[in-house]
Amino acid sequence: MGARFSRGKKGHLGLIWGTALRAAGLALVLMWRVAAEPSDAAVAEALNPPDFLTVDKLPEEQRIWLRDAVAYQLSMGRSPDVAVREIKALDSFPREWSAPQLAALVGGMYQRLTAPPQTPSRRPRALALIGDRYHDPAYIRPPLEDAMERAGVAVAFLYDVRQLVPRVVFQYDLLIILRDGMLWPDPQPDGSFGKAVFWLTEEQEMTVASFVWGGGGFLALHNATALKALDAKESLYLRVLGASYAGHGPAQESYYVRVLNGLHPVTAGVHDYFVEDERHWPRLHVSDALVLLESASGEQTSLHGFVRTFGLGRVCYLANGHNRRVLESDAMQRMLRNAARWCLEPRLDAVAQGAASAEDLRQ
Ligand SMILES: [Zn+2]
Repeated sequence: MGARFSRGKKGHLGLIWGTALRAAGLALVLMWRVAAEPSDAAVAEALNPPDFLTVDKLPEEQRIWLRDAVAYQLSMGRSPDVAVREIKALDSFPREWSAPQLAALVGGMYQRLTAPPQTPSRRPRALALIGDRYHDPAYIRPPLEDAMERAGVAVAFLYDVRQLVPRVVFQYDLLIILRDGMLWPDPQPDGSFGKAVFWLTEEQEMTVASFVWGGGGFLALHNATALKALDAKESLYLRVLGASYAGHGPAQESYYVRVLNGLHPVTAGVHDYFVEDERHWPRLHVSDALVLLESASGEQTSLHGFVRTFGLGRVCYLANGHNRRVLESDAMQRMLRNAARWCLEPRLDAVAQGAASAEDLRQ
């Protein structure tokens, strides 16, 4: 130090060189920091997102977009990493999100949607398991929310099939399913979906069966016939529903739906209607079902809706549901409301008789 600050020719030279070196060093440090800063900040944000980045603080439109995007990935059984990769490839995410922010937000939403959904405090309450590869939960949720709200039923949505377990399902009075039995966890780099995995375990079939047998309602929609298999193979789920998947037509087929029993509470106020939808033609396996609806396309007619009981519980199947417009139609909205109320009756009766708190029910 002493030498550096000595005055003399040599000292001056040393001072000049020293200053130049320090300035160069400072410039280098500054250049390094300018180059390094964005990634440092981005990493910090990804690891510990500031408040305004947490999913709850997002503007509603962005939060719903994120929820639906993650829900769709989850409905196909994809991991958080795959979900981030697939959502990053979408054109529709808000452009102000940097790549690490997007990853952090997807991670946060993924964590939320893989936890058991918050049980609504109000009863009766429904659990709706929705979405699969062919049926984006984004279009299913709003019309179901509308119908359940008008039916006076609080509804929670489930996208992660692993949560179809007793500690979740038994919190509810009504189970609604609009999805099939396939997951597509491993999309390929060429854009294909990879291999399907059938997810419904025997324990989960038992969960659904015991829920309904004990008096829970079951509203099965559209392709819920294919929850266990794509054929008529015997299963406990088939015994609960009473029908199996047997194929469908094009995504947008115009056809006629006939109301065969307009006096039943589920079809009350509904008249024959034309619809543009993917027409399913399920196969009925039981003799105790009351067929309410029949589809007619040219000369072909097929089962399109029915009700039955399983133990103490009520089961209703309605075949429409491949697109948002059909779920929003007057006929479907009315039948969804009617079906929810009809399926819930045994549970409400049980509650009213003191099996649970009647006060709770009115909350
Ligand atoms: Zn469909």
